[in-house]
Amino acid sequence: MTDSIHWPAVTAEVVRHLQALLRLDTTNPPGNELLAAEYLAGVLRAEGLEPQVLVSAPGRGNLVVRLMGNGQKPPLLLYSHTDVVPAEPEHWTHPPFAGEIADGYVWGRGAADMKDTVAEQLMVMLLLKRQGVRLERDVIFAAAADEEIGGADGFGVPWLVKHHPGLIAAEFALSEVGGYNMNFAGRPVYMVQVAEKGTVWLKVRARGKPGHGSVPHGDNAVVHLAQAIDRLAAQGLPYHLTNAASGFLAAAAASAGDSPLGRALLALKTEAGAAQVFASGALGPDLGPFLYAMLHNTATPTGLTAGLKTNVIPGVAEVVLDGRNLPGFDTAAFLAELRAVMGDHLEYEVTLDSPPLETPHHTPLFALMADALRAHDPSATAVIPYMMSGATDAKYLAPLGVPTYGFAPLKLPPDMKFMEMFHAHDERAPVDGLGWGVRVLYEVVVKHCA
Ligand SMILES: [Zn+2]
Repeated sequence: MTDSIHWPAVTAEVVRHLQALLRLDTTNPPGNELLAAEYLAGVLRAEGLEPQVLVSAPGRGNLVVRLMGNGQKPPLLLYSHTDVVPAEPEHWTHPPFAGEIADGYVWGRGAADMKDTVAEQLMVMLLLKRQGVRLERDVIFAAAADEEIGGADGFGVPWLVKHHPGLIAAEFALSEVGGYNMNFAGRPVYMVQVAEKGTVWLKVRARGKPGHGSVPHGDNAVVHLAQAIDRLAAQGLPYHLTNAASGFLAAAAASAGDSPLGRALLALKTEAGAAQVFASGALGPDLGPFLYAMLHNTATPTGLTAGLKTNVIPGVAEVVLDGRNLPGFDTAAFLAELRAVMGDHLEYEVTLDSPPLETPHHTPLFALMADALRAHDPSATAVIPYMMSGATDAKYLAPLGVPTYGFAPLKLPPDMKFMEMFHAHDERAPVDGLGWGVRVLYEVVVKHCA
């Protein structure tokens, strides 16, 4: 089914589309994603597809296009965002909005986050159409505005969910962040995102009896708060093994083999084992905190306020906490855990929250993605389902009942760290890796949909 495709030509073509997209300045704010939506629509129309450009606000354009299947199975959605974060040209080796090719890379703001994927998804749609692939399910491509700033009221995916849900409803969706190779403890692996932690930002307040600093007493708000923070730091919140974490540990342990690391990863699958491993510090200063966050709700103190004057005992003291909740724990459940450690005598005020999400990874589609990655990169020791601590548009799509996998395949040179490209100076994507990514994505889409 892919034999008749001339892949070097496809690589050249996807690179051309990426260059064109990089030259459109869609820095958000203000966005101007309509430029990208119109470019994509022009390319699609020229090949006989029927794209829609949906304008959510002046200059803010979303593109949606659908290839019809025979309706036997529910649709698959490929989606991406066309906005980018600002760039400071003086820090770049090649200008951020020129789409230059040098040293085997396409350079520009958005080359990794995520116009590379926009171009790949576009290319997959073009190939499906040109090859006349008979689809059993619709394949939808949506290139949305306003991921970087929008949040729940954004002009991109949340707006589409609210105003045009029928256009993007699907059984599964593929988007950022995953499908690229990285070193995990010295071994090449691929990550596929299956879960995102939620966010619970809050203020916790202690109250006490005001008074004169020269007469200490036992009801000091500052002391109450300090003791509560100390309990949180010493105990943390309870251990929980989510499905995503379980899958991560199994795959990562398989990759690490029978080694101290492999054994430590397996030990993390029980509460007692995890307590021992984390207490020993055996995982080191990077991997340890990363895995701890995957196995616990967390609340990190990031600010403190109390007092006005040295000789006045204040009536109130406040700590700012950055809370992150695991899939399966809503804000109330998270707060219950926090209260149990910090104390019921304190006030808890949530200032911002967004829910966690998790997509099951024991699915035929996940298996297809893993097989395709392994087939096209035999050096990979594992395909690992993982949980992101940050947030993507997947959160805003989830309420529509559309689960997302972070799968935007890209093959990187061994010394390149993909996540370090996000929002960085000299953001770039490898030319060959892009062509490779189109091939992997196309194969998954064809196997899943044809
Ligand atoms: Zn992104």
